[in-house]
Amino acid sequence: MIYLDANAAEPLRPTARIAMIEALGQVGNPSSVHGPGRAARRILENARESLTANFGARPTDLVFTSGGTEADALALHALSPGLRRVIIGATEHDAVRAAAPEAAILPVDSSGVADLATLEAILAEEGPALVALMLANNETGVLHPIAEAARLCRRFGALLHVDAVQAAGRVAFNFATLGAASLALSSHKVGGPAGAGALLLAPEVAEHFRPLIGGGGQERGRRGGTPALAAIAGFAAAAHEALATPSALGPLRDAAELAARTAGAVVLGADAPRLDNTTTLALPGLKAETQVIALDLAGIAVSAGAACSSGKVAESHVLKAMGAGALAGQAIRVSLPWNASEEDVQRFATAYAEMAARLLRRAA
Ligand code: PLP
Repeated sequence: MIYLDANAAEPLRPTARIAMIEALGQVGNPSSVHGPGRAARRILENARESLTANFGARPTDLVFTSGGTEADALALHALSPGLRRVIIGATEHDAVRAAAPEAAILPVDSSGVADLATLEAILAEEGPALVALMLANNETGVLHPIAEAARLCRRFGALLHVDAVQAAGRVAFNFATLGAASLALSSHKVGGPAGAGALLLAPEVAEHFRPLIGGGGQERGRRGGTPALAAIAGFAAAAHEALATPSALGPLRDAAELAARTAGAVVLGADAPRLDNTTTLALPGLKAETQVIALDLAGIAVSAGAACSSGKVAESHVLKAMGAGALAGQAIRVSLPWNASEEDVQRFATAYAEMAARLLRRAA
């Protein structure tokens, strides 16, 4: 099977596996004062220091969570009190949308980029707000102008939460210089295991923080619950490896796109700056689900816009927000993992061309 669904989960990186096995051998709870507890705490704090050094935050300003969904929910819960409005991008992940059901929606243009002129107008009218904008979109890979959004937010006294779940390890950023209030990360999107994530906080918001989960005072009282030590150790190791080996997937992604275009595909979001591992390919007239199944049968794992937990293909709010119309239901996402090879892409190209020719002939 050729695995081209990295935005759902990256393959585990070798250094993450080693770090996890080491941590699994450690008995003890990081909150315990005895020797084994202190050894477990060392693993936890080493992971915290490594992650904050890599992404640009103080170790005291990182809160470990169960993943990206919890980090997003925690940010929106913790930062919104006292602010008049919550504003989220139209193409945010469901983790953000579910945590802010009353939010005002910031539109995107036809290539999927957030409309900052509208954000400026809303902030000028509404005053202090909480704004949630993702760095990279999970379906299209489209990058939002986050540094500019952060500057705008600061100008109007608004707080910016950045969902960097898909961007981490794929594009360079530094949380401290970005000027956002908080930023969400997820382990299994950087090549660590599922079950760990983190929320980075700017020093000024770290002090006045409303937890979502109370309990034993872990994470400086900002997130109760015994941390998942092995997952966190794997997360930190994977992030370190990802940042130390910058992605060179662009040429492979471009080759996959060229082959798909030749077979009749339209690339959605192609005009915007994008992650170099992601492409969204629409085949006019062919349901996305049919394409995913046909490619699966040919040994290629890709996904349709957004898969919900039931395994059914949901309508993509991302592609609809971009004004893709009927193409929203006819697009698949190809997301190359960190270890993708030229041969993988060649096999995808062959399978895609064969699928398009066969299904389009049948549909005609
Ligand atoms: N945010 C984005 C942009 C995502 O792509 C995802 C997962 O796909 C999440 C948040 C949720 O992360 P997790 O699966 O770690 O809960």
